[in-house]
Amino acid sequence: MATLFEHENVAGYARVAVERGVDRYPDGLTYAIPPALADLAVGERVTVPLGAADRLTAGYVVELTRSTDLDPKRIKPIKDRDHATRRLPVELLDLARWISGYYCAPLGMTLAAMMPAAVKRQAGLVNKTMVHLLAPPPAGEKPPAKQRRVLEVLAELGPAQHPVEIRQLARLAGLSTTGPIKRLVARNLLGVTTRSSVEAGWVKQAVDTTCPETLTPQQQEIVRSIGDTLVGRFSAHLLFGVTGSGKTEVYIRLIQQVIDAGKVVLMLVPEIALTPQTGGRLIGRFPGRRVAILHSGLTAAQRNQQWTMVVDGTADVVLGARSAVFAPIPDGRLGLIIVDEEHDGSYKQDQVPRYNGRDVAVRRAQLARCPVLLGTATPSLESWHNATIRASYTLHRLRKRAPGLRLPKVTIVDFIEQRKHRRDRRIHLLGPILEGAIGSTLDGGGNVLLLLNRRGYANYIACPDHQCGWLMGCDDCDTMMVYHVARLSHGEPVGGYVQCHHCLTEQRLPATCPLCDRKVTTFGLGTQRVEAELQRKFPELAEGRTMLRVDSDSMHGARDFHDALGRFAAGKIRLLIGTQMISKGLDFPRVRLVGVINADTAINLPDFRAAERTFQLVSQVAGRCGRGTEPGRVIVQTFAPDTPAIRLAAAHDYVTFATGELADRTRCGLPPVTRMARIVCRDKDYERCRRVACTLAGELKERAAASIRIHGPAPCPIARIAGKHRQQIELLSPTPGLLQDLLTVARNEGLIKAGAAMVVDVDPISML
Ligand code: ADP
Ligand code: ZN
Ligand code: ZN
Repeated sequence: MATLFEHENVAGYARVAVERGVDRYPDGLTYAIPPALADLAVGERVTVPLGAADRLTAGYVVELTRSTDLDPKRIKPIKDRDHATRRLPVELLDLARWISGYYCAPLGMTLAAMMPAAVKRQAGLVNKTMVHLLAPPPAGEKPPAKQRRVLEVLAELGPAQHPVEIRQLARLAGLSTTGPIKRLVARNLLGVTTRSSVEAGWVKQAVDTTCPETLTPQQQEIVRSIGDTLVGRFSAHLLFGVTGSGKTEVYIRLIQQVIDAGKVVLMLVPEIALTPQTGGRLIGRFPGRRVAILHSGLTAAQRNQQWTMVVDGTADVVLGARSAVFAPIPDGRLGLIIVDEEHDGSYKQDQVPRYNGRDVAVRRAQLARCPVLLGTATPSLESWHNATIRASYTLHRLRKRAPGLRLPKVTIVDFIEQRKHRRDRRIHLLGPILEGAIGSTLDGGGNVLLLLNRRGYANYIACPDHQCGWLMGCDDCDTMMVYHVARLSHGEPVGGYVQCHHCLTEQRLPATCPLCDRKVTTFGLGTQRVEAELQRKFPELAEGRTMLRVDSDSMHGARDFHDALGRFAAGKIRLLIGTQMISKGLDFPRVRLVGVINADTAINLPDFRAAERTFQLVSQVAGRCGRGTEPGRVIVQTFAPDTPAIRLAAAHDYVTFATGELADRTRCGLPPVTRMARIVCRDKDYERCRRVACTLAGELKERAAASIRIHGPAPCPIARIAGKHRQQIELLSPTPGLLQDLLTVARNEGLIKAGAAMVVDVDPISML
């Protein structure tokens, strides 16, 4: 055993998790600490040599030890510390270890995901030259007047004000340049150091200060009951309240209590760029308090600033999307975590580490010994199961909308029935009822929101001859190509291209069928097609530019989206048509009609959560309506009006839906009653893909407890993406513990490894 005392050139050893897919050493690689870095701390980012070629790689110190069992001669020294970034709090390191184990992700990659790229690059970093007094001028020497003034000013400044930034010193000495200071430096009378800092600045938001005078008795009771748990212990709460029932108001009161006690609140929202109002409301309601905001709409420099303020302990509230669950709140300061819209699929990260931000939030609260509050109008079945059957979460309910707000009336419209009333043969995406309601709402001064969860113009490009049967698929994926128009002219498509929504390749729209030369037709749904139909039916919308399509084709980044929402809120835009981007947390009092063009887009997907997603989508989009004093109306078009998910969403009846759905899942042994992991093997060569997957399934079956079911391998629902064949294995376990045991064994033996050839997804939410 080597100890640091035997090696003068070593100040101890450190385990370092490198920012690479190294998974064989779950506790990090051992490096020697050179004496110059003797004060190295756990959580610091360092550079280390890696591999035979000693390639310099960034990593994080996860543990310090005085001795090591390894041959000291073979231990490489740490190259340097990252002087610019702050160290990660210990609570985050513990969280990273849990994520790395639970989600089968290398520890170093997990830690790398915790620190935003903008922080690693130190975007917006300013280098400051700091000056301090070294020695008094030699006796008898009289420096020139300007230099003397500098020395006088420095002498007057107290020790707390040393060193001084060079330009500030020049100002204090009444100088117009820093020349005299530099001459003093050159004479070794002054010393210089550089200090890097990120300019602090708070992100500007439209501030909203409206505050209801009193809470309803229900809200009061919930605030009291959750408030009672703010005692330095873990507890989990599910706040289930219909849209507009005043959940955010409950959050705000609890946040107040926590920050008054000197603690920090972490609040997650699904995608903050889509819910700009929440930020404005938090800032408006806590004047003088510091709300740090972490989201994708910020510049890199702003992101770095916000992160730095959190790590420095300046922020009282941290608000952000999924990755904000890694906000570097100083150890011991976290007092409450809130996860709004906890059911939302965007909390799941689809790259390594494939974590779910909501579940990580629960774990983080456990580690920090504080309460976690999950809020939603449509609880995920996971959370509902935890709050009811397992009773591991406390359930709180807000049964009614806030005073003055009413739930909208939802009408289900049968697409097929509606078609019978049309005389022409043209396909209409807006049935007579929806069309009529749009007209009367616009005439009455109300705004309209239309949802269709599919972008593009048409999702089928086909030969008109049924006997030929040609359909345009992607060359590299087992999917159909989607037609996107370049622009619309009076409701008719002009130009365009076809795109694969999975590998994103684009091609020109073929004029004729490659097999029989007939002119191709396009059919199916898409937001552009709705836009075209609206232009034909409501030409005044197109002419006045008071209609806008919102999807990832028309919006380039969060800024565009903010801008569009601003114009909608101000009434300049009267009708928004969009994908699920517009179904989330938006709160616009003028919206009096919400139309769902086709509620069935998700229902037939080969995914056991299809019904749950459909229920959520219809309920959430309906919740965007009637938030002003005027009652709202919702029209849901569907080919399957009897589907329970649609019927119950229209009746605002979550409990019946969840009870039935949970019974189905129990019968089929699916989550949340069981735990699932999904392994997808990917290979350009089909035979090899199949062979690897078969071998893996066999190995897993040998090692699995009897109660674990292993399905597959079988082709994924999308069996090929971007030229790679995909074979999946599903593991279903009665408990999380058994599943973890199996995954750990498989990982330690090197059977499973996240990478280009294999996806390991624990608690998957996408099954395609
Ligand atoms: P949710 O988060 O459940 O969608 P909000 O907290 O945003 O609901 O409340 C919806 C609206 O009702 C907001 O405009 C809010 O200011 C208002 N509101 C909330 N609670 C009350 C209350 N107790 N009295 C009056 N208005 C309220
Ligand atoms: Zn493709
Ligand atoms: Zn053909």
